Amino acid sequence: MNIRAMMKRTHEAFVLLFLALLSKATSVKPCPRPSPPQSDSSFCLSWRLAVETNTMRGWRTVPIQCFRYVETYMIGGQYERDIDFIVGQVLSYAIGIALSDDGMDAWILDVDDTCISNLFYYKSKRYGCDPFDSSGFKAWAMTGGCPAVPGMLGLFSKLVNSGFKVFMVTGRDEATLGQITTANLHDQGFVGYERLILRTPVYKGQSAVVYKSNVRRQLVEQGYRIWGNIGDQWTDLQGDCVGNRTFKLPNPMYFVP
Ligand SMILES: [Mg+2]
Repeated sequence: MNIRAMMKRTHEAFVLLFLALLSKATSVKPCPRPSPPQSDSSFCLSWRLAVETNTMRGWRTVPIQCFRYVETYMIGGQYERDIDFIVGQVLSYAIGIALSDDGMDAWILDVDDTCISNLFYYKSKRYGCDPFDSSGFKAWAMTGGCPAVPGMLGLFSKLVNSGFKVFMVTGRDEATLGQITTANLHDQGFVGYERLILRTPVYKGQSAVVYKSNVRRQLVEQGYRIWGNIGDQWTDLQGDCVGNRTFKLPNPMYFVP
């Protein structure tokens, strides 16, 4: 056999080997891969979705494995972007409302973590991983240093300037926190609202839904038309006379029953 014939045979052998390997490779079915274990951030995303959709109720603390997740959500930009998005929805709705000239077109706004923010305080409570501390929260509220929730002051001003009567309705105790809350709102630029309604002794011990429903019902009985209602808690938006539309702001840090 001459060299040329040997080379030809070697070449043919390689081609056959290649074809054999190719055929094997294409005929093998891929093994199903086991799904990777669920990461904390994936769990926490599911948890937050359940919280925001009112699927999770009565929860007392943020799961400890979601500490960093909630921290990142709250201070990493997504919280503010979510609020901006909701503000856009509110404005596109509000702009289409034909106000009457009787001065009875109203909006209801919650106060804590709707108009003014407790994020700084909740940072010291590991963004809700620590249980609610009523005396700690009261001490924080008494500083009067809650900053405006980003984006919400602009929305508030637009509602007021459009001619709506804006009622600020809060579960804060009137006797102890009335003055400082009024000052805090004023300092942050919330001026021009119709009334700040705080919890009086009549509503002491009542759930947020019962208390806020009563407040709204009284406004409706006075003739106000509640076009919209904004809050960071579902209990701001449930019950009676909730308004023509409700808008839920995000809050994965605590649950108010
Ligand atoms: Mg609130």
